[in-house]
Amino acid sequence: MNTDRLVKTFQELVSIDSPSFGERKMADELTVRLRKLGFTVSEDRAGEYYGGTAGNLYAFRKGSIPGKPLLFSTHMDTVEPAEGKKAVLHGDGRITSGGATVLGADCMAGTAALLEAVTELEEEQADCRALEILFFIGEEKHLRGSAVFDFSCVQAEESYILDLSGPAGTAAIQAPTLIDFEIVVHGKAAHAGFAPEQGVHAIRIAANAVARMDMGRTGASMTVNIGHIEGGVKATNIVPERCSLRGEVRSYSHEQALEEMKKIEGIFQEEAEKAGGSCEVQFTVPLQAYRVPETHSCVKRFRRVCEELGLPVRLVPTFGGSDQSNLALHGVQGLVLASAMEQVHSCEEYTTVSGLETVAEIVKGLMQERA
Ligand SMILES: [Zn+2]
Repeated sequence: MNTDRLVKTFQELVSIDSPSFGERKMADELTVRLRKLGFTVSEDRAGEYYGGTAGNLYAFRKGSIPGKPLLFSTHMDTVEPAEGKKAVLHGDGRITSGGATVLGADCMAGTAALLEAVTELEEEQADCRALEILFFIGEEKHLRGSAVFDFSCVQAEESYILDLSGPAGTAAIQAPTLIDFEIVVHGKAAHAGFAPEQGVHAIRIAANAVARMDMGRTGASMTVNIGHIEGGVKATNIVPERCSLRGEVRSYSHEQALEEMKKIEGIFQEEAEKAGGSCEVQFTVPLQAYRVPETHSCVKRFRRVCEELGLPVRLVPTFGGSDQSNLALHGVQGLVLASAMEQVHSCEEYTTVSGLETVAEIVKGLMQERA
């Protein structure tokens, strides 16, 4: 492993500003690097669709080992604060940000490891699987890049997403359904002092409904949350005619999540009707639940590579989303691999030199597997 080159690549990638929907410079840099490594690269129009500066990158490279390509993926965007990021290498091998921004190890640690793995295979002229690489935009904004990607060009049936915290050898095999909902309660405005009986109190309807809802951990594998509520106007003498709420439902069971959503809708309809008001319920499903069987070849391959490297394998469920959720929707089964990114989404985010090396070793091993 060329550690210096790997760390340098990581530092160079981190120094590029790449906020969600502002990934232009990152997309250009990665395109140049991929082409140098023998990939054909194309960019879709997801950026235009969202008013962003770059699209998703799809790259393909032929292999010398027969079989379907293996797909590897990370995302190009980072969460804020991320303007002027830099990677500071410490004596103990930790790499942190300067303190005022995130580091961007999410997702540049996996990206640098992926590039280093291919660079090594290229240098060694080693046998390698055909490879497909997807670098997505807008992952941090509810996976919006991969949500609009046209997966019909993808030949791979198995994928590895480098986008998880935890010790190398950890892989997520299960992810939940996520439902995002918005409810608007309509009442009727009236003077709160002169004629309150002529009004229909939208906030009260919402409050009664929220009080009846199950909230928090509502089952072994489900959570429900109301995250935002807003109602009335800035006057205390008016019966509020409108109240809106936003929330989410998560569950490892897609059906259970949809049932819970129906239940919530029912509660709001009932309470609105009782009080003489009405309500509108709208929801989207940015994530759909999946689980990869432990007997699946993508799991077995990962186990073999980790054993070879002496790494204990830990298969875990995750209760969050990743681009794998959208890949699974399109028939590509895969794992989300721990990729040397810790305390992500904070200015304390860090990676380590040895962590980067191990991830690159794992990726290189996977690319050389014959089965
Ligand atoms: Zn990420």
